[in-house]
Amino acid sequence: MDRVKLVIIGSGPAGYTAAIYASRANLEPVLYEGFHTGIAGGQLMITTDVENFPGFPEGIMGPELVLTFRKQAERFGTRILSDDVLSVDMSQHPYKVQGNKSAYLADAIIIATGASANRLDLPGTRDGEFWQRGVTACAVCDGAMPIFRNKELYVIGGGDSACEEAIFLTKFGSKIYIVHRRDELRASKIMQQRAMNHPKIEILWDSVLSKVEGDDVVGSVTVKNVKTEKETKRDAGGVFFAIGHTPNTKFLEQQIDLHENNYIKVTPGSCRTNKELVYACGDVQDSTYRQAVTAAGTGCMAALEAERDLSEKGIH
Ligand SMILES: Cc1cc2nc3c(=O)[nH]c(=O)nc-3n(C[C@H](O)[C@H](O)[C@H](O)COP(=O)(O)OP(=O)(O)OC[C@H]3O[C@@H](n4cnc5c(N)ncnc54)[C@H](O)[C@@H]3O)c2cc1C
Repeated sequence: MDRVKLVIIGSGPAGYTAAIYASRANLEPVLYEGFHTGIAGGQLMITTDVENFPGFPEGIMGPELVLTFRKQAERFGTRILSDDVLSVDMSQHPYKVQGNKSAYLADAIIIATGASANRLDLPGTRDGEFWQRGVTACAVCDGAMPIFRNKELYVIGGGDSACEEAIFLTKFGSKIYIVHRRDELRASKIMQQRAMNHPKIEILWDSVLSKVEGDDVVGSVTVKNVKTEKETKRDAGGVFFAIGHTPNTKFLEQQIDLHENNYIKVTPGSCRTNKELVYACGDVQDSTYRQAVTAAGTGCMAALEAERDLSEKGIH
């Protein structure tokens, strides 16, 4: 089995940034881009306009941005494998990385496997229906888009992120409805109060969306009261899932420390995990910011830390 200095797992902004830094530092990284697990290129592959990544004043399409990351990583010699990592054995060093079609012994590992936004299987919101045409899972990313301006927007969820996203959307929408299937929110008291006291926000209790319809983009939603079963069709300009994220950490089989919500624990202010020479960057260790630019920033940190730690051990 080949031994390499660095394996990077994941091909979103975190993984590619780590690859750019690591390959320029002659670490000759091997990067698993994912094949069946997640989407090669990461979450930006399922979005349209990215308007908040610095350097693109006119905005750029998500997949196009990922392609630029990829080209830049390849330019400095990153080896990209269209394969999934099935497991990692960290019981002895060098660590064994087992892919579906490949395996490596690695001196260091950077985990950049991201997190998947949870969605409901709701008619009208699926891929090929209104997903990314008025239905999204990221208010901070997409809320400022013109299609949502002065429209009635629906946020699905009942936790802190639903309240936060609804408050954020008040800058753009004419009215924001939080659709919650129960009669009380799960969000912290302070977030609940902020949402409930906001003049533009209304909570639809005991309710779910049963259908999303429109022409080119979302035009209406059908709200169903789960107690009375009554359904009402209402005008809508957008639907935002705010029902949490699932970090992609299952394949690690608890070999490194995770938070209760399964995000990877890192030493504050760094990307180091509790395992020597194992680093985590991007959304897989960040349940707060979850942006392409923060993922890229921590990708850079992880690569610089790996380079320093390997060099201290005499591995250049
Ligand atoms: C709809 C939507 C719109 C968004 N819009 C914006 C925006 O406009 N601006 C912005 O800044 N952010 C936006 N975001 C957020 C942004 O996409 C994420 O914060 C960012 O992609 C996180 O980068 P990452 O590299 O940590 O992980 P990801 O982009 O999630 O990439 C993870 C990678 O890991 C791979 N992977 C996972 N498991 C394995 C495995 N076992 N083996 C091999 N590979 C694996 C996946 O295939 C993927 O390549 C949006 C997100 C969504 C969902």
